[in-house]
Amino acid sequence: MVSFALTGVGVSGGIAIGRAQLVSHATLEVAHYSIAPAKVDAEINRFAHAVGEVQRELEALHAATSGGEVPSELGPFLRVHAMILGDPAFAEAPKKTIAEQRCNAEWALTLQLGVLTDQFDQMDDAYLRERKQDVVQVGERVLKRLLGKPGPLPAPVAEEHTVLVAHDLSPADVIQFKRRHYGAFLTDIGGATSHTAIVARSLNVPAVVATHNARQLIRDSELVIVDGDAGVVIINPDRAVLAEYRLRQTELGLERQKLKRLRSKKAETLDGITVELHANIELPEDLTAAVDNGAAGIGLFRSEFLFLNREGLPSEDEQFEAYRAVAAGMQGKPVTIRTFDLGADKQAEGLAGLARVAANPALGLRAVRFCLAEPRLFQTQLRALLRASHHGKVRILVPMLASSAEIDQTLAAIAAAKESLREQRIPFDEAVEVGGMIEIPAAVIAMDPFLAKLDFLSIGTNDLIQYTLAVDRADEAVAHLYDPLHPAVVRLLAQAIATATKAGKPIAVCGEMAGEIALTRLLLGLGLRHFSMHPTQLLAIKQRVLTSEVAAMKSTVDRIRRAPSADRINLLVEQLNAL
Ligand code: PEP
Ligand code: MG
Repeated sequence: MVSFALTGVGVSGGIAIGRAQLVSHATLEVAHYSIAPAKVDAEINRFAHAVGEVQRELEALHAATSGGEVPSELGPFLRVHAMILGDPAFAEAPKKTIAEQRCNAEWALTLQLGVLTDQFDQMDDAYLRERKQDVVQVGERVLKRLLGKPGPLPAPVAEEHTVLVAHDLSPADVIQFKRRHYGAFLTDIGGATSHTAIVARSLNVPAVVATHNARQLIRDSELVIVDGDAGVVIINPDRAVLAEYRLRQTELGLERQKLKRLRSKKAETLDGITVELHANIELPEDLTAAVDNGAAGIGLFRSEFLFLNREGLPSEDEQFEAYRAVAAGMQGKPVTIRTFDLGADKQAEGLAGLARVAANPALGLRAVRFCLAEPRLFQTQLRALLRASHHGKVRILVPMLASSAEIDQTLAAIAAAKESLREQRIPFDEAVEVGGMIEIPAAVIAMDPFLAKLDFLSIGTNDLIQYTLAVDRADEAVAHLYDPLHPAVVRLLAQAIATATKAGKPIAVCGEMAGEIALTRLLLGLGLRHFSMHPTQLLAIKQRVLTSEVAAMKSTVDRIRRAPSADRINLLVEQLNAL
């Protein structure tokens, strides 16, 4: 067995040693099997039937555009999709392949999709070239029909010593692994702060993304070492390497064990500054990890994860129950629940009818923009949140706000939800606090309405970096440009923290930077006093806080604020960390 190594971006630390288990999306990789001559006609009919069903589905969606149930802008796309589906190159050619090659319908369709997409790639006209995406989408719809289920990744067998290897995992895929236990995750693509990476991190297992071709190079059951800190994967290690990693694994385990002693210790710097350390969660069941790691509150509950992996939308009562459970579970400590941040890389099955075809999803109808455009959905969530505020210290956090008008519209929606509850005499906390996420540079540059109208702020550095540097956080091709220590990012952070602090508004960081030990001192030095992170990071960050002296960092932090380059800032941050 050949031993070899792959490198990628380590997105969740630690070391795992286990056997590879390759997983694939139905639409990314379909099975190829032979069809007995007597069954060829039936296979052709199966294909024709699936095409017919998708045709009817598209017609129904198109009809719904006139009734307003489906946005009318989708009309032209649906027409294009129906045309593609009706084209003989799409609908007839696979039948011929099934007959000639006696293969299954999925395989025949995949082959034809390959032929068609190659043809599109060679077109001179940019507009036509882009239609390739439509062909792929229509192909995927038919494939899903053929496979009989539109669901997510099939769940592999869970085992502590299993290293999951996939081309890509969506946040919805990863969230379903929360209830199982794996040793590690590897994916070919993905960026360091993609939601997939964030969820993988919250599972507290090593994960490496952007390995480019792990899925192709690694075989099922091969022995794999995953070093999530270094972003290195070693396949079929020899004995000496294996022994070394086992030793490091034991050492890391011991370190974790030691940190547990800090669980109920107050987070305070050497010079007596108190720091609030809160937890980020995705599902109510993450509460246990937050409590076990001594969280002083929930700083970010990404409520949109309630939408993923399910049919239909969660009802008001269902949402209320999820929020109430977290609010009650934290026993009076603050529980910051973010209103849905759907769109971009988090698409919900239940929203298929509402989802739009966006050219740039991260700049599109995402987060609060989506909620404001779907008032019924928003009201349902706001009522559920307000009802939960009667059972604990719930705070409402609104993502992706950019302007004064959006803040006004959001506050009006909250006022309307409150009014409807009052009319029905349903109790809620009248003084529930409403905060805004600072994740668009515009919000830092023109912070006045945020300070005037909101009760608290929370910086989403994951998006703030993406939007400041114009680097898609989920795209591994530009992952090397995604830099938390770019001077523009550091200055925006410094400005946001200073402006809010001067105005007496509590401001937190709830992006991934808050859980990075190497950045804790920088953030403390910039004046940050509220951090929210994965529960598994809480104790390590607390240890860092306990060994930091803010006053001693002042001159270095002042130099960082003025530093002209990321290289320079990196050096200065190293100096801070060596103090
Ligand atoms: C962020 O953008 O930093 C953030 C915390 O929100 P999310 O990662 O869910 O976009
Ligand atoms: Mg965000």
